[in-house]
Amino acid sequence: MDSLAVRQRMVQKLAGQGVTDPLVLSAMGSIERHRFVDSALVNQAYEDTSLPIGLGQTISKPGVVSRMIELLRNGVSGPMGRVLEIGTGCGYQAAVLSCVATEVYSIERLRGLHDKARDNLRPLLLPNVHLLFGDGMAGYAKGGPYSGIISAAGGDALPQAWVDQLAMGGRLVAPVVHAGGQALLVVDKTPQGLRQSILEAVHFVPLKSGVA
Ligand code: SAH
Repeated sequence: MDSLAVRQRMVQKLAGQGVTDPLVLSAMGSIERHRFVDSALVNQAYEDTSLPIGLGQTISKPGVVSRMIELLRNGVSGPMGRVLEIGTGCGYQAAVLSCVATEVYSIERLRGLHDKARDNLRPLLLPNVHLLFGDGMAGYAKGGPYSGIISAAGGDALPQAWVDQLAMGGRLVAPVVHAGGQALLVVDKTPQGLRQSILEAVHFVPLKSGVA
């Protein structure tokens, strides 16, 4: 498949949906999403749809990945600083993040997916992506403080560790349980305290504790 042309069409659609951050659009245009999904799903890799990645988990649709990363970057020009991702899954979003941030720490609680992400990312040779196996609810203090924290799994409440590991001036973007469903939560850590906003409804897999 001529995946470059197909990705360019996807990027045009993302821009049409309102994504404007040039670094996010170029990252979405360069990372080959079809390499992260099962061979039976390759034909759907550039449609704006979430796809199964095994062990009951899903890769988010490109529209949601680009929207969340744009929010995370909060309008900075050039790469942002260190980022923590909770929920590596197949590694796709970690690869996109590697294009827009200086360092990416990504944690996964399911061994099978952690290994899969490692296999998927190896040929891309991304020296600034660090994959960790563990419970992301505890964050990863050693890599912090983070300019950005992004979760690909939705919990009832925000783990305190994430807030603690966020740098002053940093931003956290995560799905949280809200009004009987899930919504995107954005938290800014400011000298005056935390500033929180709830944005649109989303559908993410649940944030779970412990490893498996
Ligand atoms: N960003 C991923 C999306 C994966 S789906 C991608 O691009 O493929 C969300 C992932 O979060 C799942 O793999 C799930 O196992 C993981 N997850 C859920 N709770 C977690 C936790 N406490 N710590 C780490 N990962 C978690």
